Amino acid sequence: MHTQLLYLDDSYLKEFDATVVEVDEVEHGVILDRTAFYLGGGGQPHDTGNLIGKKEYRVIGMKRDNALHIIDGPLPEIGEKVHGIIDWERRYKIMRTHTSVHVLSGVAYQKFGVKITGNQLYEARARVDLSFENMSRELAQRIVEESNKVIASNLSVRWYYITKDEFQRRPELMRVNPRLYEKYDKIRVVEIVNFDIQADGGTHVRSLGEIGKIILEKYESKGRKNKRIYIALEEQEKI
Ligand SMILES: [Zn+2]
Repeated sequence: MHTQLLYLDDSYLKEFDATVVEVDEVEHGVILDRTAFYLGGGGQPHDTGNLIGKKEYRVIGMKRDNALHIIDGPLPEIGEKVHGIIDWERRYKIMRTHTSVHVLSGVAYQKFGVKITGNQLYEARARVDLSFENMSRELAQRIVEESNKVIASNLSVRWYYITKDEFQRRPELMRVNPRLYEKYDKIRVVEIVNFDIQADGGTHVRSLGEIGKIILEKYESKGRKNKRIYIALEEQEKI
């Protein structure tokens, strides 16, 4: 991939300038030299938004392998300069939710020995799969309560790169299949300072206070050990 992914360094970037370097009529999208649109992946959905060039182009999807912006309506031309604007309200909710899931997974594992086996983020809501012998709704509720205590402590969040060597020396950073990282020379990590660190390519808030509070929305049993919970940012509670 040749597109510079601006969100990897600055997750608060809402607008950017770029040039169209490729037009794909078949997939109906464009590749830019740089973008702030999140590609999707790691449970975090892709961004949506607009590209303003000779016309206004609506970005409705992203293709992860080549950073293709899928456009609804007419396509820009190769070489066209565009000003990208991501749907910030949506992305910021997803970002807050993403960081909240890292808090939850840190609390679940460190305090209760509960492993997170998967997650999917939505706008201000997340599905989290847990694997634990004696998992119960009460325990899920306690994990959420403890997570809210950590969130209230307003710890800082930072993201940076480490070498592959360092990554391999620190197995605690690998929450997913380590083979996924084999092709990279450096690995991006997201650290909730003094609390949790993991390899991650997503966008996060700078301090936990931005999350607000989370609630346990739903608890489902998927088998003896495997349970699924849905958490939500508190402002969604009344919906
Ligand atoms: Zn993550």
